[in-house]
Amino acid sequence: MLVVMEPTANESEIARIVIRLTDAGCHVSRMGMDQVVLGVEGSPRAGAEDALDAEALLALPGVADVTVGGEEYRLAGERVAKERALVELGRGLTIGGERLVVMAGPCSIEDEESLYAIAAGVADAGAGVLRAGAYKPRTSPYRFQGLGEEGLYLLRKAADAYGLLTVSEVMELDQIPLAAHYCDILQVGARNMYNYPLLRELGRCHRPVLLKRGLSATIGEWLSAAEYIMACGNRKVLLCERGIRTYEPATRNTLDLSAVPAVRARSQLPILADPSHGTGRRDHVLPMARAAIAAGADGLLVEAHVEPDRAVSDAAQTISTEALGQLVQQVHRIAEALDRWVFADSG
Ligand code: PEP
Ligand code: MN
Repeated sequence: MLVVMEPTANESEIARIVIRLTDAGCHVSRMGMDQVVLGVEGSPRAGAEDALDAEALLALPGVADVTVGGEEYRLAGERVAKERALVELGRGLTIGGERLVVMAGPCSIEDEESLYAIAAGVADAGAGVLRAGAYKPRTSPYRFQGLGEEGLYLLRKAADAYGLLTVSEVMELDQIPLAAHYCDILQVGARNMYNYPLLRELGRCHRPVLLKRGLSATIGEWLSAAEYIMACGNRKVLLCERGIRTYEPATRNTLDLSAVPAVRARSQLPILADPSHGTGRRDHVLPMARAAIAAGADGLLVEAHVEPDRAVSDAAQTISTEALGQLVQQVHRIAEALDRWVFADSG
């Protein structure tokens, strides 16, 4: 059972509920800052069942909602039937509405010169957000691990020069304040979707979080990961399908586009697709980008570079900035058929 408190509930109102439930023999987990959510587990002692009566709890001061049953992702799925979440990314750019957001850039921040050239190409293509990693989760420890803070600084400068927002990955708790200082959106990579301490800390941060689907995560596990961030106070979560691991070796991962309508049916949160990691092949990025938008995605995360073959990481799946321009044009035409639009400068 979950007891969702009003944002205005005071400590004594919260304590009253906690004491009522623990006195009845249940275990209570408290989550959230501005709006507290109490997770209730265990059966009440004989004779104390009334303490858990949903109607009685709802009647108590400070209680906004009571959910009985195994709803694992109450906040990540709460307004699904009523409205889709519109998440403000910064500088007036929102995601989740009629406008689609394209986030593009190199896998890794490599050096100032290439990053500026890529940022120019990304802005030219009509994308609104510059993506690039400063902390890279590489499979081999001997591979380039990213430029760290220097990279984040370059990312901010290059994005500002071309009026773009920024998204970059965080892998560890102590990277969050630094990344939040330099970036508009913080990314959780596929390998960290199950890193609950990281998700909790991002829940205490004020930046939107782009949460990639884990390599073998079910949609339920992915939405529960979003719930960690939201229950800790940060409701600005974007989901990103980036391919799952299957038996098929022809592509790096299998981009599960059925996840797009499946998520939309279960959650109000914006959903993006990453056709770069989702296929691992440059020549597959454009068709899968088109398909993702046709399937209802709210945006795309694409790896692009001015010299894709020379990209330090993920070169095989990185498209040129010219190809990105074509991608945005084509995606825009598909979007129009769905009464949506994509260009950064049209609104
Ligand atoms: C990335 O976006 O560069 C990345 C490492 O993605 P993923 O976590 O999906 O592998
Ligand atoms: Mn990459």
